[in-house]
This record gives sequence, C-alpha cells and structure tokens, in this order.
Amino acid sequence: MFSIHGTAIGGGIVIGRARVLESQRFDVARYHVSADEVQAEVQRLDAALAEVKSELDAVAEQLPDDAPAEASALLEVHAMILDDPMLAQAAREQILGNGWNAEWALASQADGLARQFEEFEDAYLRERGRDVQQVADRVLKALSGSDAGSRPLGAGDPAIFVAHDIAPGDMLSLRSALGFVIDLGGTTSHTAILARSMNVPAVVGLHCASELIEDDEWLILDGDNGLVLVAPDESVLSEYRHRQAASVLERRRLERLLNVPTRTLDGRPITLQANIELPEEAAVAREAGAAGIGLFRSEFLFMNRRELPGEDEQYEAYRTAVLGMAGAPVTIRSLDLGADKTLEGAASTAPNPALGQRAIRYCLAEPEMFMVQLRAILRASAHGPVRLLIPMLAHHHEIEQTMRLLDRARVQLRERGAVFDERMPVGGMIEVPAAALSAGLFVRRLDFLSIGTNDLIQYTLAIDRADHTVAALYDPFHPAVLRLIAMAIRAGRRAGKPVAVCGEMAGDHTATRLLLGMGLDTFSMHAASLLRVKRQVLLSDASQLALKVSRLLNSDDPVRVRAALARLREEPVAG
Ligand code: PEP
Ligand code: MG
Repeated sequence: MFSIHGTAIGGGIVIGRARVLESQRFDVARYHVSADEVQAEVQRLDAALAEVKSELDAVAEQLPDDAPAEASALLEVHAMILDDPMLAQAAREQILGNGWNAEWALASQADGLARQFEEFEDAYLRERGRDVQQVADRVLKALSGSDAGSRPLGAGDPAIFVAHDIAPGDMLSLRSALGFVIDLGGTTSHTAILARSMNVPAVVGLHCASELIEDDEWLILDGDNGLVLVAPDESVLSEYRHRQAASVLERRRLERLLNVPTRTLDGRPITLQANIELPEEAAVAREAGAAGIGLFRSEFLFMNRRELPGEDEQYEAYRTAVLGMAGAPVTIRSLDLGADKTLEGAASTAPNPALGQRAIRYCLAEPEMFMVQLRAILRASAHGPVRLLIPMLAHHHEIEQTMRLLDRARVQLRERGAVFDERMPVGGMIEVPAAALSAGLFVRRLDFLSIGTNDLIQYTLAIDRADHTVAALYDPFHPAVLRLIAMAIRAGRRAGKPVAVCGEMAGDHTATRLLLGMGLDTFSMHAASLLRVKRQVLLSDASQLALKVSRLLNSDDPVRVRAALARLREEPVAG
C-alpha cells in the first residue's frame, strides 16, 4: 500500500477499482464480463485476431512488385506480433483469469509489451514498441466492428478514473465514474469543477499518479483531504468504510435543512442558487434546494462536437433548464470558450489562451455565432424568468457592443413574430481586476453583477488556475482578492443592483461568513454544496459579521487576515 497527496476537490470518500485512462487509448472500453461470458469473449478476441491476420495476408499479397522490401518485412513483423503468445495468449489469459473484456485485455498487454520495447538501448528494437501498438490498434478496430465491443467510453463498470489529464468535454462521457484521480489541474480547473458538478470525489494535481497506479488496482479516494491510497490493506479499508458511513450520516443530517427558509440569525434573507453545466441538471438543482440557477455554463453545449449547435438546438436546451426550474430564475452565461475549454479539434494555439480571445472577446469576434446564441436565449425567456450573463468583461465597450447585438437579435425575433421577454435582465461577470475596479461604472449599464472568483483570483494573482505547479499560490483569501470582491459587492449595493458570487468560493462553506460580512446576499454554487453553505448561513449574524469583516479588510497583512478569518469560521455563532 502507498499514498499519494494532491489538491482536494471534495466529494467525500469512495473506494473502488482504478481505471487508468491513457490519452491515446481513450476510446478503449473496459468492463468485466461474467464467468459464463468469458468463453464467448475469448472467441470474440480470436475472431478479431483472425480478421486482422487475413487483412495483413491480403495486404501482403497485393503488394505491387516494386514495393520497397521494407514493406513486406514490416508486414511480416506485424503478422509475427499478432501471433506472439505474449500478446494474444496473454490477453486470452486476462479474459479467462480476470474477466476483462477483450479490448481491455488486449490493450493492457500491448501497452505492457510496448513499454518493454521502449526500454531497449537499440533504436530499432525501441521502434518495435510502436509496431505492437499499431497491431493492437488494428485488433481493437476489428473488435469495435463486432457488436459487443462497441460500448461507449465510461459505460463499463463503475470505477475510479485515473488520468494524466482529462479534457472537460471528455469527462462528460465518463458517467460511470466513482471518482477522479488526475495528475494535472488545480482546485478551479474546469476538470475539477465538472467533477464537483458530477458530485463525485476527486483529487487533482497529483503529478504522476497515472504512472504509479495500475489498472484494476483497489483505491481509496478521499476527495475532501486530497488523498489517494493505493492497494490499501484490510485495516485501512475498514477505517475508511467507517469514515464513509459517517459522511453519509452527515449528509442525512443536512437534508433536514432542505425546507428551512434561508435566513441569517438576524433575519436577513439569503438566496442560494446553483451552477449547472448541462440543461438537465436544472431539475436536479431544484430538488437539491436551489432557488434559481445563478450560472448556466452554456459552453458545455458546444464541446465534444465538431458542428456548433444551431439556434433551435440551443433554444431547446435553454428551455429545458427554464422548465426544470419551474418559475425560478435561470441565469444563462453566454459562451465562455477559450483557455481550458475548447471546441473539439480546436486546441488553442494562442500564446496564452487565458489572456487571449476568450469568453466575451471570442463572442464579439464571431458576431454571427454570438447572435445565434442571443436569439436562442431570448426565445427561452418566453418560458420563465431568464437572465443573460456576460463573462470576462474588462472594458465598458464590451457591454455596449453586446447590448447592440442584443438589440439586433430582438429586432430579428420581432420580425419573425417570436415571443420573448422584452425586459430580460442582462448582467456582467466580475472576473478581471479591471472589472472589479470599474464595477461602479459597469453596473450602471447592467441589471446585475456576478463575481466569478475563480477567474478573479487567477487574474489578480497571475496564477493559471489549471496549472498544478503554481496551485499552492492560488489563494482565495489573499487580501488583494478579498478587497476586489468587497469592492464589487459594494458597487452593486450602492447602485441598488443585485450582486452574486458564482465562483467556487460561493460553495466553500469556510468562506460563507466572510462573504456574508461583505454584504453578499446571493451565492451560486454546485448543488452538492448548497446545504452545507445553508447551515453556515443559519448559524451566522450578518450585521455582527459586517463589523468584523470591515476590520479584516482594512488589514493588508496576510497573517493577520488569516487569523481573523479563522476566528470568523470557528466561532460557533458569530457575535
Ligand atoms: C469564475 O471564473 O469564477 C466562474 C464562475 O466562471 P468559470 O469557472 O466557468 O470560468
Ligand atoms: Mg470564469
């Protein structure tokens, strides 16, 4: 047994088997077959091997006379690899012994063999590793042609997925995930955010876990403490089973708060909303007690595909979210692509994607695409309260340009006779220090503000939120960050406009009292965090907190600020 430490993403404890995803082999389905299916699975593998054998024979026969001598030699090598007992026979044994499906058995043998080749000094032998992979790829392709081999990624047994990195879009297809163990990323990387929204335990920033953990190994994943225990012994397993049971009990206790009105001890009503990535999550969020959707990250509709979704498709998606909330407001954020979220096949080539053409900058550079989205959002507003949220504002003219496009979208819809809310509120995200400093000016032109602390921290501290090597410097409680958040809240309150926080800080119950003390009354977070934050609200006195927090904000000494924050959190009842 050994342990690996990384950055905690939350989600509690899970115990399960590892499924190590290799980036190139991302599409290899891995699942167990039952004892009475193993013979059929071996036959499936044999049929695929035979198919590839005859393919190779056919290619060899059809080689033109003037083909280079290497071509037929290479085909012979491939035919030999195909027959090699280290590949075929060992894969059969994996199926019979471990009940692995044919693809899994073959891919893992091929990877093992390829690794052995890579260790040779001799360059020629090292290259043979590549041949093994190529032969295995042919067999995998043949397997996927047969019925049973075409299970989609993630449709196998529930498992803890271990990877060097997973693109946010790919995670959406891993629905059988019990948890995630990922080498790269920090607390607010989009991979981490998705893990939270899928409500599964996750640890990121583990550096080389994907190399240390073997497929099918037992793991204990403690998402709250950022800990992964590999191949645990019986005594550790039983300790963690106890802890798991305790956290289930805690969840039950929290569930009792579901229908309690959200008010501070001194009677201030607080609104707790949910963040979603997919439209279907709205109904789930409502059941979890969300009083609205404070952030619908619409870009997830655009990921994992080559064609952009059209107006009707987007409209249907937004309408699903609106209907799911049954009359409570839904805040749809316009497309926030760029940085670590990209369209399929469009890996960013910008020198620094986080500072490049991201979010509103991208939308304004592609007005036709943006107009399609604006029309779809407006049309969804016919079915319930919808608000539009503009991400990553830095300049006043970005608001002006968006308003102009929105006006044009309204005219087009009127011409078509389409129904929509003529007064749909438009808000802006405060995610860039420039926006926090200009919040007073921005809010005059907007109906509400929403503070995206994930990016605000990233841009204030110059820390790439997806880069694990600087994750330790990513500090939500840095005095500079706290002042910018407080400044934006104050600007909104002065203008009499609602202000929310929708970054991960809103769902961090250790930050609840701090934000209440700054005067925040709307928090938007992943539904799974709602009740824990609610419990904090119920135990807090907002006016007492306001005094303490204003004192804390006057200090720019991080040590004093930390100590004051700790007191704020620890007092059983603030006062
Ligand atoms: C944020 O930056 O805090 C935010 C809510 O937006 P995202 O995490 O999608 O960048
Ligand atoms: Mg953001």
